[in-house]
Amino acid sequence: MDEISENLFHLYANTPVLMAAYDGFDRLRYANQAFRSAFFLDDDETPLWSNLMRRNFKAGRGTFVRDPDFETWLISTQSRRGKTGFREFETDLVDGRWLWMTETVQNDGWMLCIATDITKLQSDGRSVRQDRDRAIKASYTDELTGVANRRFVNARMEEVLQRPGVLSCVCLLDLDNFKYINDRFGHHSGDIILRDFAVRIQRQVRRSDCFGRVGGEEFVLVLPATSTSEAELIVERMLAAIRKSRPLKERADFGYTFSAGIAAALSGDAIPDLLSRADTALYSAKFAGRNRIHLAA
Ligand code: GH3
Ligand code: MG
Ligand code: MG
Repeated sequence: MDEISENLFHLYANTPVLMAAYDGFDRLRYANQAFRSAFFLDDDETPLWSNLMRRNFKAGRGTFVRDPDFETWLISTQSRRGKTGFREFETDLVDGRWLWMTETVQNDGWMLCIATDITKLQSDGRSVRQDRDRAIKASYTDELTGVANRRFVNARMEEVLQRPGVLSCVCLLDLDNFKYINDRFGHHSGDIILRDFAVRIQRQVRRSDCFGRVGGEEFVLVLPATSTSEAELIVERMLAAIRKSRPLKERADFGYTFSAGIAAALSGDAIPDLLSRADTALYSAKFAGRNRIHLAA
């Protein structure tokens, strides 16, 4: 290590400011003492962020989660966490402390989190700010499934298109024969299947990718810095996961599938160009028998 790295490392280790770095899969790779103590981490632990949050929630400590259902909170938080270049927000801990948290994401998906304890600062307006944050969150969330909505997905697509020289992909995912499923089992079962789909796909999404619902049974994946063959592998795993799902309790033999169309972003593309190529690929996957992926020509 050179002198600067060595000194920085020493300063990070000892500052009361909370510091942590996560990789693109959202695994904690570095955390200083202040961070480890606020989130109850042993010295050498490197858990996934989701597991860390779940563990603390179960133990009644760490981040204060207002939603009584942790998994619902997790899905909606993950669908927007760590995707944009920079984000800052207030968050509170179960022990009553307030933190001013910043998240900086670089192109390969690594994310730096820095949080300062602001408990002693003037707390006027905190609840107003929290209400505002909740309203912003709601405006980016699909109500039925809890994942990102079209507005959020479009913003991520804009970002991808503004990064020339980085190959990125977009994938359209559409449930197969969903009209028939609704007709046969009812709209309520249809909704259960949509939620099951969203939860299972979100579990397979890397943190820097974005997954959202853009229409009735249509979803989009934005995969920054990803080649079409990598995208194909990722979506193949999703196809396999969905094939295994049996979402209806009273119909234990019922399974469903989806089809997908993948397109790479080209220089000069606007969102409709990119989506239209993905849609043509999706249509061709449907035409070829569904339950498969096609790449745009
Ligand atoms: P394909 O395999 O070609 O995609 O056929 P499909 O039946 O899935 O496609 P189509 O677009 O004809 O039908 C989509 C259906 O999705 C129509 C509508 O009843 C249903 N749908 C849309 N939004 C919702 C929703 O929020 N909840 C439920 N339960 N159904 C929905
Ligand atoms: Mg469909
Ligand atoms: Mg459709």
